[in-house]
Formats: sequence, structure tokens, C-alpha cells
Amino acid sequence: MILNPPPWPNGARCAVAFTFDMDADSILHFDHHASADTRMAVMSMLRYGPEVAVPRILQMYKAFGMRQTFFLPAWCMERYPESVEAILKDGHEIGHHGYLHERPNELLPDQELYWLQRGTEVIVRMTGQRPRGMRCGSFKFSRHTMDFLVQEDFDYDASLFGDDVPYLLETEAGSIVELPTHYGMDDWPHYMASRDFGYMMSMKSPAAALELFKEEFDAVWEFGGLWIAVWHPFLSGRLARARATQQLIEYMHAKGSVWFATLEEISAHTRKLMAEGAWHPRVDHLPYYEGPIPELGIKSPELSV
Ligand SMILES: [Zn+2]
Repeated sequence: MILNPPPWPNGARCAVAFTFDMDADSILHFDHHASADTRMAVMSMLRYGPEVAVPRILQMYKAFGMRQTFFLPAWCMERYPESVEAILKDGHEIGHHGYLHERPNELLPDQELYWLQRGTEVIVRMTGQRPRGMRCGSFKFSRHTMDFLVQEDFDYDASLFGDDVPYLLETEAGSIVELPTHYGMDDWPHYMASRDFGYMMSMKSPAAALELFKEEFDAVWEFGGLWIAVWHPFLSGRLARARATQQLIEYMHAKGSVWFATLEEISAHTRKLMAEGAWHPRVDHLPYYEGPIPELGIKSPELSV
């Protein structure tokens, strides 16, 4: 099913990374800047992330002896320094997730670079090292993101969906490792409901959501893939969902031959395999297009657009 699966460390069948995007209330200020402070209920829902869910998630990881990756908008790091401290204390990785959860492909290139560098400054100041990885706010990777990540010396990106295993993104500026996921692995479509954000879908029970995540896991285990959950503490960290997650992790451990790793470790492993000539990932050359495709610009009787 996977044409070219990479060899995983110690003969593991697959790699598993539970990544958490701790957006907290950054997304509310970003979407509703002028009125965010008046939206108390949704604010409390989002603050549940750093205040209640992150300590719970950290405790869970500790019990399983797992280190994982957290993506934090830099504004959240400044606003919730105790979360940063707790995440680092347990040896987890902190990745770049914008400054205020801005969407890179909606910015001008110089604005995108400004917020990328401003976020990096905060990460360096609060963690003592530069970020290795990037996940763009709302997955909104732009036509320029790749060049900026190379320029700013990132190891990997985790915003795209283009494969089941690590692959390479390449432009004239250079290349970086892409650690892909997909929307099915995001907890947002399963759990998010909020009038303030315009999401009023019916929610899945934790058992139904976890069934999907478990099926994804069984498939990567069988075929040698990469399982990356994109979860949010304020959603997946709620009580019944956290309990269901605990059961999923127990299932994974019981099944065995799983490499639980941070994205930084998975990226380093990928680069090592390439350096040793032991495995060659697929390469995506960016950008995919130089602009809108010309076909619809053709005036012809057949195309009345
Ligand atoms: Zn986010």
C-alpha cells in the first residue's frame, strides 16, 4: 500500500506522534480582535487548554514515558509561561505555530516573514533554542513559507498532507523534511462546536472519534506509515476524550513495535537515513503552480468564464 516506507528505528512497524496545538485564546483574538474580551464563555472554553488540559495531558504522557511535540503560537507562550515551563520540564518539543495563529497564505510575504521571526525570537528566549519545526496556523502554508523556513534554518514542516510517510519539500532555496498528516487526524472536525467560530456541527462521541484514529493507526502499523495526530488541548483534553485517548495509547503499547517519537526525532531520523543512503523520500517541488492555471483564461466558445 505504501510504495516506499522508511525503515523505522529498532525495527518498529510505524512511527506515532501525538502532536498538540495549544492555541488557547489566540484564535479568538485573531478572529474577533475587537470583541474577544467580551466573549467570556468561549474564552473559558479555550483557556481550559492551558489551565486544565495541558497538565492532564502531560501527566498522561509521563505515565506512558512518552515525549511528544507541542505547537504553540508565540503569543500563547508569553501569555501562559507556566505551560511552556511544564512542557519543557517533561522533555517535550515546542514547535513554531505562528505568533497569534495568523494564516501565512493570507499575509504579504514580508508580513509572513516578520511574524515568523517574531515567533522564533519568543521561542529562543523561552526555550533556549531555535524551533526545529513549523506548523502553520490553520495549515495555511503559503507560496513563500517553504523559502522562509529554509532561510530561518528549520528542519521540518508539519503543515501539509501530501504523503503517508515523511517526504521532502524542495524549492530553489533548498529543501526541508515534510512530516504529513491529514484532516482525519485533526480533532477539530470531530469535536469542535462554537457559535463564536461558526462551527455548529454535531459532535462525535470520544469512542467514535477514537475509532477513526485507531483505524488510522492499524493501517500505518500494517503498512509502515507515519501517524501524526493534530489535536488541541481544549478539545481532546476534555475529560471523556482524554480517557478515550488513554485507552488508545494503551492499545498501541499492547500492539507493540511502535516508535513513539517527537517530530524533531522523526525529522532527524529521516535526514539520517538520507545521509546514509539507506532510504530516499519522495520529493515535492514547490510551488506547484506559478499562478492561476491559464486554461480558464482562454476565451473560447467552449469556456464561457
Ligand atoms: Zn492551531
